[in-house]
Amino acid sequence: MTKAIRIHANGGPEMLQWEDVPTPEPGPGDALVHHAAVGLNYIDVYFRTGLYKSPLPATIGMEASGTVTAVGDGVTTVKVGDRVAYASAPIGAYATDRVMPADRLVRLPDSIAFTTAAAMMLQGMTAQYLLRRTFKVQSGQTILVHAAAGGVGLILCQWAKYLGAVVIGVVSTPEKAELAKAHGAAHVIVGHADLPAQVKRFTGGAMVPVVYDSIGKDTFMASLDCLAPLGMMVSYGNASGPAGPIDVGLLAAKGSLFLTRPSLATYLAKRSDLEWAANDLFEVVEKGVVAIRVNQTFPLSEAAAAHRALEARQTTGSTVLLP
Ligand code: NDP
Repeated sequence: MTKAIRIHANGGPEMLQWEDVPTPEPGPGDALVHHAAVGLNYIDVYFRTGLYKSPLPATIGMEASGTVTAVGDGVTTVKVGDRVAYASAPIGAYATDRVMPADRLVRLPDSIAFTTAAAMMLQGMTAQYLLRRTFKVQSGQTILVHAAAGGVGLILCQWAKYLGAVVIGVVSTPEKAELAKAHGAAHVIVGHADLPAQVKRFTGGAMVPVVYDSIGKDTFMASLDCLAPLGMMVSYGNASGPAGPIDVGLLAAKGSLFLTRPSLATYLAKRSDLEWAANDLFEVVEKGVVAIRVNQTFPLSEAAAAHRALEARQTTGSTVLLP
């Protein structure tokens, strides 16, 4: 037997139960991974509450690092004993051991510790595609980043600065503002009130060519008003609830704007894209350009406490669950 966190119904953090489960066996194309560390991500909250659907009972979680302990037929990308990490569907990472499609695993460089890997794969590859593919941030551009002291946020701030961008971060407290500044944000706005006016002030009226908005409902409209003509609204998360339906005519009225709702799964669907994103991330981490801040750890068995902290906006940087 192994241990896993399972949910039998959607709901609050109390639904996360620490249970015995049979040790899974890898089928063709699969690898069994013994987890060293599991990443906590906001998407885990969406699967727990039912905003994102999955059959029940379910083990949630999309990110972990560990060692390959068995492989199924036909697996060529990894072998027993390899140090690996992943950030993808299917859900099931909140477990001591789990089976993954082997082609979704990446081998870890020796320089990257398991805890760091579990903290950075999902949030880091998200920052990678947002900055390098969804909107190709250029040196000298000023960009707006919501939840700038969060897991994705701290990585976005550092990586964007490395690309030569001027980052305006948005956070909820002065302490988070200091943290975002220490990780590359040139300016930080505390709170969402009057967002466009503040962005106007920091940009001398020019506004920004891109907004990275992971908050959704509470900030969507204000974010649109922070964009320069032909700007790109990147609505990539729903921390405050999903952004509602939008009248497409608004995009014309507000300056021929572009709107995208990207997801990591699409950007990493091809193995070659996964390898590019992972290697790009390993490079900036190994160079020391992007520091991965594991600011909270919890025993995996206490995942409920980790969810409560994340939803109460009490976490900064990345959070790791230890099996
Ligand atoms: P974070 O560490 O950023 O935590 C969420 C943060 O959102 C909070 O700390 C808080 O920061 C802010 N927030 C604002 N309003 C609320 C609210 N009403 N309730 C809770 N938090 C709020 O989490 P992650 O780094 O794991 O993820 C960041 C976002 O990125 C999430 O929305 C997630 O869904 C999205 N995401 C999207 C991906 C994609 O491919 N589309 C992939 C990965 C993540 P503050 O207190 O400063 O406001």
